[in-house]
Amino acid sequence: MKIGSHVSFSGKGLLAAAEEALGYGATTFMIYTGAPQNTRRKPMEEQYVPEGLALMKEHGIDEIVVHAPYIINLGSYKTDTFGLAVEFLQSEIERTAYIGAADSIVLHPGAYTDKDAQYGIKRIAEGLNEVLTVNGRVHIALETMAGKGTELGRTFEELAAIMDKVHDNDRLRVCLDTCHVHDAGYDIINDFDGVMQEFDRIIGLDRLAVIHVNDSKNPRGARKDRHAPIGSGYIGFDAIHRIVHHEVAKGKPIILETPWIGKDKANQRPMYEAEIALLTGNAEGRFGPEFLEDVARLRAFFDEQLGHPGRNGRDYVLATWELLQDKKQRAEDKREPMERLYDLVVEHGLFPDCSEEQINMRLVGYFAGI
Ligand code: FE
Ligand code: FE
Ligand code: ZN
Repeated sequence: MKIGSHVSFSGKGLLAAAEEALGYGATTFMIYTGAPQNTRRKPMEEQYVPEGLALMKEHGIDEIVVHAPYIINLGSYKTDTFGLAVEFLQSEIERTAYIGAADSIVLHPGAYTDKDAQYGIKRIAEGLNEVLTVNGRVHIALETMAGKGTELGRTFEELAAIMDKVHDNDRLRVCLDTCHVHDAGYDIINDFDGVMQEFDRIIGLDRLAVIHVNDSKNPRGARKDRHAPIGSGYIGFDAIHRIVHHEVAKGKPIILETPWIGKDKANQRPMYEAEIALLTGNAEGRFGPEFLEDVARLRAFFDEQLGHPGRNGRDYVLATWELLQDKKQRAEDKREPMERLYDLVVEHGLFPDCSEEQINMRLVGYFAGI
């Protein structure tokens, strides 16, 4: 399985990115070629590409993913915004081709802002037609979106409509984001097979190139796009585990974009290492038997504390998110389910020698039901 996360490309560029990914036990990873919120980019010659590729090769990483910055908007009617997006994507194709090991640039299709969806779809296709005048074997993978604001790509039909209007659409692919499709209304929890059949009928499964795995802080159809660590949200560990082991995911880069966790914003840590180990069934190999013992202790503790909350705290997590949907309840106590469980553990001094990060990773293990 090719699984990894979004990693930083700053400092020593591809070398730093590969080092970070290997630290998580990843077998692929995703980068932004610079800051995700702007379009300033250093020349690739300064990004330690040969050094990064050598380290990747040493560890058997042969495919990574590039994500275009989320501020560019091919759907914009404004000449300068649209022009900047086209120009940026053309240079991004060149940067990605330079890396060599990256086959796809993930792109948020765009937003129609003051116009309408029909306009946006046409505009995005117009932009892609211009972008793809730049040669190269690099693909652009349009990402399935949650449907917040006026963003397009909230349905498979919208993605297909864009692709239909692009001449050289052999170079277009799709990135399926689990949080986004769930938020857009697709039932990937109970019927992933059905959702994939629909994907196949409308887009074609041969177009599926990348999978983003994120849990969601909102119920299906909420159109919010707020990611959660695996197991701590509405989708749940089991559904995500089924997706990463599904035949449609075989050989495709699977990328985590789950939020970093910690009460103090300055000291937040990613859960990627735990998420990767748990999704691949390698928790013991990665963290040792003590990790499994700690998770078993957690389970016994929560069974008692939460009054037999159901398998892996699933009932508790969902009930707490439901509670938080209510404004009044939220004002009283805005802590998310994972943070509440963390606080309970600390209150009872369950793991006095563990850091916040280590406790949170054990919580992810608890959600995974190991
Ligand atoms: Fe994205
Ligand atoms: Fe994503
Ligand atoms: Zn998202």
